[in-house]
Amino acid sequence: MTGSRPESSQDPSPSSRLEEILDDKLRVEELPDSDDDYEDVGTVTKEEQANMAYLESVKIPIVDKLKTDSSEVQDETLEVVMPFLEGNPNDFPLNIFGIPHLQKEKHVKFLKKALGDYPPPFAMMDASRPWLVYWSLQGLSALGYDISEYRERVIHTFSLAQYPAGGYGGSYGHLPHLAATYAAVLSIVMVGGEKAYTSINRKSLWHFLGQLKQPDGGFNMTTGGEEDIRGAYCALVVLSLFNLPMELPPDAPARTQGLTTFLDNLGPWIGRCQAFDGGISAAPGNEAHGAYAFCGLGALAILGPPRETLNAYLDVPRLVHWLSARQCAPEGGYNGRTNKLVDGCYSHWVGGCWAIVEAGATSERQSLWNRDALARYVLSAAQFSKGGLVDKPGKRPDAYHSCYNLAGLSATQHVYVYDDGAGVKGDLDAPYRWRTAGVYPESRIWDEEDEINEVHPVFVIPFKAARESREYFEGRQGF
Ligand SMILES: [Zn+2]
Repeated sequence: MTGSRPESSQDPSPSSRLEEILDDKLRVEELPDSDDDYEDVGTVTKEEQANMAYLESVKIPIVDKLKTDSSEVQDETLEVVMPFLEGNPNDFPLNIFGIPHLQKEKHVKFLKKALGDYPPPFAMMDASRPWLVYWSLQGLSALGYDISEYRERVIHTFSLAQYPAGGYGGSYGHLPHLAATYAAVLSIVMVGGEKAYTSINRKSLWHFLGQLKQPDGGFNMTTGGEEDIRGAYCALVVLSLFNLPMELPPDAPARTQGLTTFLDNLGPWIGRCQAFDGGISAAPGNEAHGAYAFCGLGALAILGPPRETLNAYLDVPRLVHWLSARQCAPEGGYNGRTNKLVDGCYSHWVGGCWAIVEAGATSERQSLWNRDALARYVLSAAQFSKGGLVDKPGKRPDAYHSCYNLAGLSATQHVYVYDDGAGVKGDLDAPYRWRTAGVYPESRIWDEEDEINEVHPVFVIPFKAARESREYFEGRQGF
């Protein structure tokens, strides 16, 4: 991936790639820079010509003329998104493929700010404290920023948010919740180190999880709360990273129904969350959704090798069909549900499903999705001019969309392999058998400068953080 990078969008020398894909008659003649009416004439740069030629090639050939609310908001969305895919309204420097560079410094600055103080109107976000910390730390890690400066603060924050009877609340004094616990645990594991690990009361956490296990196999999100697939995924993440005992605590209500371990009935329960159209929903009988699909696949990838668990509990071809249908054309990014709009956060929620699905569905390394189309959406349409990443152009950036756009971009760049022979051995050891197999070699969208760090396909944190946590708690089957 060498070659000179155009310094500006008006660089007179076309890249070799452009020469390759655009024949002469498709090129729009460019006016000389000396022309004073340059802007008024609407000159199209060579990069824009290439973008337009690509977008034309992926346009849906048959358009349903029926007007509905959904079709109208889709048309409005295209009007907003297309200028960013065709041109470069933010005036970002372009990479060797004529696509905006990833604005790493600006995004780092944005995410560091997200870990700072918030103005009074944000008081309502207090219950999301673990999420704000997790999204920001994970976004920074993906960008290659050393997060160790946050270790003491993370330990302090989550020591105070740890509920005496187990688990973590959204903030100080809040009741424990599995979503808050998941985000807190990932944050603690990401900063890592003995002091962080020993800040966790594993025994009370085990008891908390025991209260949530349901007789049908799933998990409630909180005591007396809703049972959904987030619960299954979040509980398994915590059980695996902290190497907690698989036996249910003696006071777990599910024991009265004959269950003895956290894993009882769990795989079949996840399987029942697969909807008629192949996607995965929050709970049996609900509408399929991208984020629940990731939770379901993440849970199955913790339960065992994806090739075994996916095929045991899911109709994989139907799932692949549904996931593929979530990638929008010509936008390239993903939506989260049928007939919904492209949104940068699904770059992870759906884009992040593929590594697991590929490990479960194929015997050879093979890409089932269009990585470049997603990378194009993230780089061209999801970067906010001043830093941070967004749902779609016109929206404000936030830590959530920054984290998951970056995770999706990382998924387009790296190849992950599930390796049966690697990693630790013990309960829920499957997620430690993943390894990276280099960058995706065929990209025509991002260059070396845009490359970001690998993200663990199951835990969505750095590989090293997941491995070190598990290794620390190895041999601590008790407490
Ligand atoms: Zn979103």
